[in-house]
Amino acid sequence: MKKIAFIGLGNMGGPMAANLVKKGHEVVGFDLSESALNALVYAGGQVAGSALEAVKEAGVVITMLPSGKHVAELYSEELINNLQPGTLIIDSSTIDAVTARSVAELAVSRGHKMIDAPVSGGTGGAQAGTLTFIVGGSAENFNEAKPVLECMGQNIFHAGDSGAGQVAKICNNMLLAINMIGTSEAINLGVRHGLDASVLSEIMQKSSGRNWSLEVYNPYPGVMENAPASREYSGGFAVDLMTKDLGLAAEAGLETKTSTPLGNTALNLYRIWSESGNGKIDFSSIIQFLNGKLKV
Ligand code: NAD
Repeated sequence: MKKIAFIGLGNMGGPMAANLVKKGHEVVGFDLSESALNALVYAGGQVAGSALEAVKEAGVVITMLPSGKHVAELYSEELINNLQPGTLIIDSSTIDAVTARSVAELAVSRGHKMIDAPVSGGTGGAQAGTLTFIVGGSAENFNEAKPVLECMGQNIFHAGDSGAGQVAKICNNMLLAINMIGTSEAINLGVRHGLDASVLSEIMQKSSGRNWSLEVYNPYPGVMENAPASREYSGGFAVDLMTKDLGLAAEAGLETKTSTPLGNTALNLYRIWSESGNGKIDFSSIIQFLNGKLKV
């Protein structure tokens, strides 16, 4: 098995790297955060002092970074030039398709292979190894990456050429944000009319309003023991990251003159919620904003 370098060991990357170790891979990780590095050591991985050091002997490089800016900065000429010949690069961060394609072009021009492979499934899916990977890149690179991705996920889709994984991911997250806001509105309305949030959620789960937010990520505190809402919205998918994804969807809409009225409304709601000082907590906290709060 090839050595895997894993850069970006946060809420998602940390458990993903731990699952690779569990499946018998040799993983060397790097993150700017000391606690993220310690968690990888605890999981049985090795850590490097820099990204450059981490990738030097790796046959596969995986990145799980916040945004396109971080990905473009990390894959500098210097880093690409220090990779082993023919390295397989998998970027699982959610970023814009333009950056994904330009980084892949640079990597390919130096003889490497690259796919964009953003994920869906949240931190719970990252921990359980049940993520959905949405891949953009050649069929050959997709097939080579598949056994590695299967150590961290259950559903591995090939969306199309380079960048296609990012486009599909952005469409999904725009829908997720709209669903989360809609679910929050419905629960708040019911609760204000005296209904129990758990009872109402169970009813809607078995009715036509059913969706992922209701099934595994209920935004109302106490309804689901394992959802971020029941731990003061910590450790999930940050409001700032959802705001970033909605911004990417809005840009993608502009590029193709596609109307996304609900997506744009969701972007504005999340932006206000972020600017009120809630950027670092989980995106399901939007229910608190809809309930009239400005800060959790
Ligand atoms: P996070 O902020 O928890 O983790 C990002 C990590 O990257 C941090 O630990 C940070 O220290 C590290 N980092 C930043 N710059 C770095 C650099 N130059 N070198 C090394 N490490 C660096 O974010 P996350 O929730 O893990 O999300 C990561 C990506 O996954 C984002 O693009 C996000 O949109 C996407 N995503 C997140 C979720 C989720 O539920 N959290 C779900 C699907 C997709």
